[in-house]
Amino acid sequence: MVRKGTKPYCILHRKCPHCHEGEFMVTRDPYDLSRAGDLLDGCSVCHRKFETEPGFYYGGMYVSYASAVALGVVIYVATGTIAPSTTETTRLWWVLGGLVALTPVLYAWSKIIWACLFIDYKGVDPLPGEDPKWVKR
Ligand SMILES: [Zn+2]
Repeated sequence: MVRKGTKPYCILHRKCPHCHEGEFMVTRDPYDLSRAGDLLDGCSVCHRKFETEPGFYYGGMYVSYASAVALGVVIYVATGTIAPSTTETTRLWWVLGGLVALTPVLYAWSKIIWACLFIDYKGVDPLPGEDPKWVKR
C-alpha cells in the first residue's frame, strides 16, 4: 500500500532513511526503556551513518512535542465523546495517563519521523559522487 522509497514507508516501517531496508534503532520495542530511542551508528545494509551532523536528532523534540499535543487533543475529545458525563478533571487525567503511557512510543517515533523528513531515500548502493564520509566500509 505504501511504496518503498517514500517517506511514509520509512516512518511506518522504522527502517534506515537512506535505503529503507536496514534497521534504524537498537531495539524495535519502545518499552525496552534501557535502549528506547537509541540509534544504531549506521545501516547494516547500505552502510551510511544515521547522524548527519552533531545534534541532528534534537530536532526530533519538535516532532515529539507536536505528536504529544495532537495525542492529548485526541484523548481529550475521545474521552468527551465516549463518556460525555465525565468532568473536565477526569478528561485531563485521561490525557495525562495516555501521554505518560505513550511517551516511549512518541520518543522513538519522533526520531524516525525527523530522520525521514530530512534524509532522502538513496537506495542501497552509493550514489555517484556521494560523500565518502557518509559511507562506513
Ligand atoms: Zn540503509
